[in-house]
This record gives sequence, structure tokens and C-alpha cells, in this order.
Amino acid sequence: MKPITLPKDLLFGSATAATQIEGGDVNSNWYHWSLKGRIANNESSIVAADHYNRYKEDTALMKEMNHEIYRLSIEWSRIEPQEGVWSEEGIKHYQDEIKGLLESGIQPLVTLHHFSHPQWFEEKGQWTNKKSVMYFMRFAKKIIEAIGDQVNEYCTINEPNVFVTDTYMDGKYPPGHTDDIISYFKASKNMILAHLKSYKMIHQLRRKMGYKDTRVGIALHIAYLEVNGSNKVTKLSKKLMNYSFHKLFLNGMVEGRLTFPIGVGYPEGKAVYCDFMGINYYSRHLIHSSKNPAMLFGEVKVEENLPDDKLNDLGWEIYPEGLYKVLKANYDQYKLPIYITENGIPDATDSKRAKFIYDHMVEMSKLIDEGVDVRRYYHWSLLDNMEWNEGYGPRFGLIEVNYETLERRIRKSGEFYAEICKTKEITKTMIDRYLRD
Ligand code: BGC
Repeated sequence: MKPITLPKDLLFGSATAATQIEGGDVNSNWYHWSLKGRIANNESSIVAADHYNRYKEDTALMKEMNHEIYRLSIEWSRIEPQEGVWSEEGIKHYQDEIKGLLESGIQPLVTLHHFSHPQWFEEKGQWTNKKSVMYFMRFAKKIIEAIGDQVNEYCTINEPNVFVTDTYMDGKYPPGHTDDIISYFKASKNMILAHLKSYKMIHQLRRKMGYKDTRVGIALHIAYLEVNGSNKVTKLSKKLMNYSFHKLFLNGMVEGRLTFPIGVGYPEGKAVYCDFMGINYYSRHLIHSSKNPAMLFGEVKVEENLPDDKLNDLGWEIYPEGLYKVLKANYDQYKLPIYITENGIPDATDSKRAKFIYDHMVEMSKLIDEGVDVRRYYHWSLLDNMEWNEGYGPRFGLIEVNYETLERRIRKSGEFYAEICKTKEITKTMIDRYLRD
């Protein structure tokens, strides 16, 4: 293993999402989903990591871990618990949390929709309802008016592609439809429109407040897709999957262009609708052909007989080279500054995380050497959290959470990461301390 030096202006921190860590909210669709027993082991989102009450402690931990940046999300159901009813308490909470971050020298990147929303929005058909765009815009406006003077960077919507897949194809997220391709595309269209409109609105509102440094983007899950074998049908499946899972959203959210089957043309005008390209990278997807006609896009499987050190606790392949391939291809195409808005590993024993981080830093450093404009790295995640329908089993945290006592403890890999945040280097001493068995 070789030492690495990264640029000093590459900023480091971590990412979280409200529902996964906060606890205490009874108005979100995920709380209702837990009441239906749809989270592993019948778990609930009601306590999570109790971050809502412990955000000061968690901010102090971030500071201790030398974070310069932090990606958080705002829970819409805490701001608008009932349709059109705004909670001053919810708004003040986030203003206070953000104030604490800024006072600790940590720059926030705020996500407005990270997989969850109010139950009332869910009951109206959530993103399949045409009015969803208007509802989201109303919420986004409220947030910018409340925190626009504190925060200049926003992700409008997190991973719309994973969201529509898990919600409408795989039945994992509320309302749990399976193979509902019509809703997949309807919701995708509305999420794209919501991004385009809110991109413009956030810029306008902050401009009116006198700010010129607004940056708005998305956080899109981009997997490295590869075909298993040389079968023609599988190759076609890869093309279809790449289109429906990646391109449809890139065309829409970056270029402002609706493409088949959700529309044609530029509903908000031809322009670039991202000031940075937020990419969440986790793994490689190997595509196999499927006999099931509903699996129009093929089936994603993990390569057989992979050694244990190539697999994470959820059985996903650890494939750092994919970070290079995905970022390079998207930078060459869009030439936008890149924020790695998520990258991480579920690893309960903390035996693979430090190596995972090292290997991804190697890829990042290669990209930067080749002129790819990577500006931020947000590790997923700061703390152990509720992995949506998978519940509390997967441990993604740089910080371990004891769910009995809610105590926090920085993992050894977290200490390693904290040193990277501070020095932007992986030295021989660090390699000896953290990466030797
Ligand atoms: C999501 C996170 C999730 C993580 C790990 C991303 O798809 O944005 O909310 O916890 O990946 O699965």
C-alpha cells in the first residue's frame, strides 16, 4: 500500500439523512411504514439514533473528527406535518442545528428530499400525483426562506432513481408496489420537474436575499454497470437499465430535457440545472438476463464466488475501481464539478472500512491527477443508522451507535478517516496504524 497525498482544497466530511438518524417523528411516511411491520425485524423509525435530541453531541463529534463539510437532510414532515400547516418548532430546530455546524466551522449541504416525506403527501399518491411538484415547491420555498441566509448549497432530491425502483418496482419503500412501471415513470417525471423548478427558485430566492454563491445540484446513485457474459439480450438489458436508471435522470436533472417515455423537450428551458454533480457511489452491478418478463432491464446479481474481502455486510460487491470509471465517464460527459455525495460500507465488525476508504481514496486521487474536478467527499455515514427497510442491522457509521444506550463511539476506521480529513494525506504511519492486520 502506497501513501497518498490529496489536494488541500478537496473537502471532507460525511452524510446522513433525517429519517435514518433523528427519531421522534410520527408524521412521516416511514413511521407509518414501520407501523405496518415493513422494516426488518419489525423495527421502527421512532428512535433511530435519537439525533434530533443529540445533534449537539453529534456536531461535536464531527468537529472532533475534523469534518469541514456535512450533508444532512431536512425532514419535510417536521416542517409541514399536515398539509399547509407549518411547524415553527421544526423550522427553528434546523436553524439551530445549522447554526451549530457553522459555529463549528462545518459547511452544510442540505438535501430537501431524502426518501421520506409527510404521510399526508404519501396518501395523495406521493410523487405519482401531478400536484406533488407544487407541494414540494411550497416546502422548498419555506426552507429557503428559513435557512437561505445560513446555507448556500443544496441537493434538491436524493437518488430519485433508487427511490422509484425501491418504491414502485421492488416494493421495499412505501407504498410498496412491485413491477409498477407506470408509476415508476410518472414519479420520475414529477421528481425531475420538481428539481428543475426548485433549482431555479432556490437561485432566485437567494439572489433576492443578496447572495451570489448559491449552488444547487442532485445526489444521483450511479452504479458501475457491467454485463455478465456476452449474451446479446443481456447487453440490451444493460442498455435499458443504464437508460432507465441513469440516463433518464441525467437528461432530466442535469440538462433539463425530458426523454422517452416521460416526455420530450425542455419544460423549463434549455439550460444546465446542476451547479455540481452529486454522485453516490457504492458498487458494481453485474447484469444477467432474466426469464421473468417483468425484469425488462435484466437482473442485478453479484458475481459468484467472490472472496469475503470483496463483499460488504449486505452482500454488495466492494468495487473501488467503479468510482473511477463512473466519475470519469460522467465528468467527461458533463464537465461539472463533482461532489461524491455518498460512498461507504456496511461493516459491523469494522474490519473492512479503513481499507474501503483507502481504496476509494486511491481512485479519487487518480481522477484528480487526470484533471477530473472532484471537490468534495462525503462518507456515508457519520453514524450507524436505520438502513430503510433493512432496519438497524447494517452498520454504515464511522461512529458506532449502541442502540440500547444510544451512546456513540468513534470506530477505529473513523479515527483513520478523521486523520484524512485533517491532513488530506494517507501517510506510511497511518497505513501502519490502520491498515495492517
Ligand atoms: C441512500 C442512503 C442509504 C445508502 C446505503 C443510498 O442509497 O441515499 O439513504 O442508506 O445508500 O444504502
